[in-house]
Parts: sequence; C-alpha cells; structure tokens
Amino acid sequence: MDRIIEENLKRMCLEIDEESFRKKNILVTGGAGFIGSWLCDVLFQLGANISCVDDLTTGKQRNIEDLLGKKGFKFIQEDVRNFKSKEKYHFILHSASRETPEEYQKYPIEILLVNSLGTHRILEMARKMDSRILYTSTSEVYGDAKVVPTPETYWGNVNTIGVRSCHDEGKRYSEALVMAYNKEYGLDTRINRIFDTYGPRLRVDGRYSRVVSRFILQALSGKDITVYGDGSQTRSFCYISDTVKGILSAIMKEGARGEVINIGDPQERSILELAEKIKGLIRSSSRIVFQDISEDDPRRRCPDITKAKKILEWEPKIEFGEGLKKTIDWLRYNIVIK
Ligand code: UDP
Repeated sequence: MDRIIEENLKRMCLEIDEESFRKKNILVTGGAGFIGSWLCDVLFQLGANISCVDDLTTGKQRNIEDLLGKKGFKFIQEDVRNFKSKEKYHFILHSASRETPEEYQKYPIEILLVNSLGTHRILEMARKMDSRILYTSTSEVYGDAKVVPTPETYWGNVNTIGVRSCHDEGKRYSEALVMAYNKEYGLDTRINRIFDTYGPRLRVDGRYSRVVSRFILQALSGKDITVYGDGSQTRSFCYISDTVKGILSAIMKEGARGEVINIGDPQERSILELAEKIKGLIRSSSRIVFQDISEDDPRRRCPDITKAKKILEWEPKIEFGEGLKKTIDWLRYNIVIK
C-alpha cells in the first residue's frame, strides 16, 4: 500500500473506536469508488468483515487492490440494482452512484435508476436483515443554495429538468425513500450529505475528474489551469480522512438514527482561490485561463456543520494546505511518475 494512504489509515484507526466495527459484517456499495474504497480500507483495518459491491463503471479495481484476496474482504462486481445476498449485514454503507458533473450529462437515465431502483433494493435488503443503513447523500440535494452556509433544514433550490437534475433528484428521491423506510418500518437509517471531498484516489480520468485533481494535474504538467467562468463560484473542500471519520461516526452514534447530517468542511473558497493555491504549492509555471462555465453550476456551496458537531462530535481536522500537499504528493507519485 502506498505510504500516504497507509499513514492516513494508521492515524484514523487510532481515532476511531475499534470495538464498534470489529467482526461486524458490513456491506459497502460503491466500495471501489473514491470514498467507498477508503471506507473499506479503514473498516478492514478495524477488523470488520467487508462485502464490497461495485460494478466498476466508475469505481476502480486498483482502489481496492490491497484488500483483494484477503480474509475478511469480499469483492462482488455487480450493479446494486441486481445485487443479491444471503449474508446478514450488521451495517450497510450505501454509496453506489456516479458522482461527476460530466457523467450527469452522459448517463442521466442510469444515474436516476441506480439512485431509485438501486437504493430501493438495498433498503429492502436492510429491512429483511434488520441492518443499520447509512446512505451517503450529497450537497447536490441543495442545488444552487440560497442559504449559505447551508443547514440540513434548507429544502433546496434544484432545477428539476436541468443538466444536473438526474443526480440531484436521484439523490433527493433516495433520501425520501430512506426516510420512508425509517418511518414505515422503523428501520435504523442515517443520511449524510457529503460536500466536496478531495484526497488520494480522487478521480483523475480526464473529463471525469474533479476540480482538485484536475487543477493539480494541470499544474504538475505545466498545462493551463482551466477555471470555468470567472472562478468566483465557491466550494468547500474536506480532506478524505475527515469525511470518512464523519461517516463512520454517523453509523455509530445513537443520536444519528433517523437523522440527516451534513459532512463537509465549513470553509468556503472560490475556485479561482483554489487554482492559485494549487499553482503556488506546486510552484507551477501553468497559466490560469478562463473557460465557459456549464449550465446550473452552483454559485456557492458550503455546509453548516452545527448538527455534525453536536450529534457526531465531528469536525474536519486536516488543514487545507496540508490536505492539498498530501494529494499533490500522491498524484505526483501515482499518476505522473507511474
Ligand atoms: N471547475 C473549474 N475547472 C475545471 C473543473 C471544474 O473551474 O477544470 C469548477 C466547476 O465549474 C465547479 C467547481 O469547479 O464550479 C467544482 O467542480 P467539480 O467538477 O469538482 O464538481 P461539483 O462541485 O460542481 O459537483
């Protein structure tokens, strides 16, 4: 396993109550994806028995290659819409979904079906097995939020027929279904709305990469750093180990039952600021250039994490510069040099 990920995992394991997960059977859907693979890694280190389901449409086998073949880790290459199992899971972490803006335009029907039929199937499984289920939703349910920092009580401002609607509405439907199972069957459900997360394993494949990995690769290779619009739109960036700790806290804490909780970094930054920060850290000679921004690109995005602080006793710990340096080092070694 590579050094940066290993160091992160070691530190995370020291901070998480090991007994909560030891010998627990845990299903992770989307387990070969960015966040899913980190969940698998840390849960494995904590002694859980993991079933990882991923159809590898966007997840990557190399994200879980250190776990493949190990006792306590099972990989099932399957679309969640077809997944069957006789095993009883104590916990289900359901995060299977395509997550990049480019894909929303290319695969809208599939995205809606995975987030409706797929979530229904996983919820039915949870109901029959009486599993505790955590659904990883997204800040996208808020759409182009008019209340920023955005609390969980904000209902959202989503264009139902826009270019991002398959993802936004798919996730909103999933949330509604999760809550319906909680209300009608008393199922133990938890929902996290995950804001932009970055770190090692963030997607880098061309158009499907996210802004942080894209800017880093552009800066490392001396190519133009492509800021869309004037770069005044904002996001908040949470380092992966913090996001994962937030999710694991939400599956464990009794107060999170039946709740929806934002997980993200509360520091709002403009995309231009991000470009300049990355260029400076890398001491890159790249130029920052401005290109057309896509329709419905949210203007501002930043979570209110008061609820997470209170219920989960969680807040991000990794400082932005430190997280970016780790991500740059990881990308330099794994993508640029390899
Ligand atoms: N972005 C950009 N240049 C790029 C890629 C993205 O300026 O090369 C901007 C994009 O317009 C958006 C923000 O960065 O405002 C975050 O984009 P990302 O694709 O990471 O996902 P989003 O947060 O929009 O879901």
